[in-house]
Amino acid sequence: MSRFAEPMARLIEELRKLPGIGSKSAQRLAFHILRSSDTDAAALSKAIHELKAHLRLCSICNNITDVDPCLYCSNAARNQRLVCVVEEPTNISTIEKTRNYNGVYHVLHGTLSPLNGIGPEHLRIGNLVTRIQGSDVEEVILATSPTTEGEATAGYLAEQLRLVNRNLQGPVRISRIATGIPAGSDIEYADEVTMTRALEGRREL
Ligand SMILES: [Zn+2]
Repeated sequence: MSRFAEPMARLIEELRKLPGIGSKSAQRLAFHILRSSDTDAAALSKAIHELKAHLRLCSICNNITDVDPCLYCSNAARNQRLVCVVEEPTNISTIEKTRNYNGVYHVLHGTLSPLNGIGPEHLRIGNLVTRIQGSDVEEVILATSPTTEGEATAGYLAEQLRLVNRNLQGPVRISRIATGIPAGSDIEYADEVTMTRALEGRREL
């Protein structure tokens, strides 16, 4: 039997499911919430509820959005022919911070990781392929991180896109960001200058 009252044990159990939260942290957070004001606790609960109620994935690029298509895909001022493929929605803000990119995005929601049982079928690749087949996309920039998983994902995508290219009138240019970003690191932590150089120095695959 749990040493906590049932509502407390339940909250700890839910918090423990969050990434990077172990049992100790979950207990600390749960007690913090218990001690916080009713207003704060209600606001937290409401924010979580509204996140799930109002946010969804953009049907074109898989970015997290409250409007579909998202602000990037529906923006006529952005170059809809240039698509930057990223691992996670958070990577978009890293690239946006450079203020040097005016194309659109495609979010994979992960990377290939055979050791963790994550194969191509777990990533959002299908609508990238249909997007390229059915539109006038000119270039796809593979901006996955220069980690083992990120490189493997870029390699796999390049292969898939080459297959798509065979059946296209005007083939899509496939490029990979330069390794201005230290090998093995996540682009989420790249600063603006590094990310700008990585984009500008991209090479065709
Ligand atoms: Zn979108």
